[in-house]
Amino acid sequence: MSFSASACLRAATSRAKSDVANKLVSMFLHDLSRKICASLELSVTDPRYADAVQAAFGDNCCYCCQPLEKDRISVEHLEGMNRFRLGLHIPGNVIVACRRCNGEKRRDDQLDRLTLAECGWQSFLSHDSTRCAAACNSCRYWGMVWPDPTERAENMKNARQKISAFRSQYPVSLQWSGSARTCLRQTVDSLYRRCQGFAADQIRTTVDEAFSSLSEDVGRFGPQRG
Ligand SMILES: [Zn+2]
Ligand SMILES: [Zn+2]
Repeated sequence: MSFSASACLRAATSRAKSDVANKLVSMFLHDLSRKICASLELSVTDPRYADAVQAAFGDNCCYCCQPLEKDRISVEHLEGMNRFRLGLHIPGNVIVACRRCNGEKRRDDQLDRLTLAECGWQSFLSHDSTRCAAACNSCRYWGMVWPDPTERAENMKNARQKISAFRSQYPVSLQWSGSARTCLRQTVDSLYRRCQGFAADQIRTTVDEAFSSLSEDVGRFGPQRG
């Protein structure tokens, strides 16, 4: 077996467990967001909110500003909804982006600590090829979107300003988001660890039970021939 195939198989096995824990963290953040939306009396599915997103960004991606194509649109959380970014599904944090930007931004969303900016979306729009190592994939991405460095810096700054202006329409949401970023880290880390432990325990017990019951079943056929 080639090295890449064996590395890939090993990674897939360990990912299965953390995927369960990540899913639980996402469910927690979604349910918490539901409560916050109720207190704000505005949810992201409210037509008033959809109109505000449309008014701010038109039919363009909030990051690269390219026209959105029907089958290439993603619901985008400016601050990612995971245990690192602790983003919420509330007005001011949810907009639409092209699938390319949505995928490229995941690199910053998955970082334990950000170095270029305080928030995930700001960090993604700060990869201007002046502050990262030459091998940075996010810098390379923006270099492909806008090859000219001056135009690139200008467009990235404009996108940051546009998003900031949009978010400032939701000052109470921003307060919730800021509090979540500073206060929820330990809570969510603990939830993540407990979920992983629970999954590992349950799987171990169930595997032992299943293996012995399968062994009995297989044993009934007597010793294997060939
Ligand atoms: Zn885009
Ligand atoms: Zn970079």
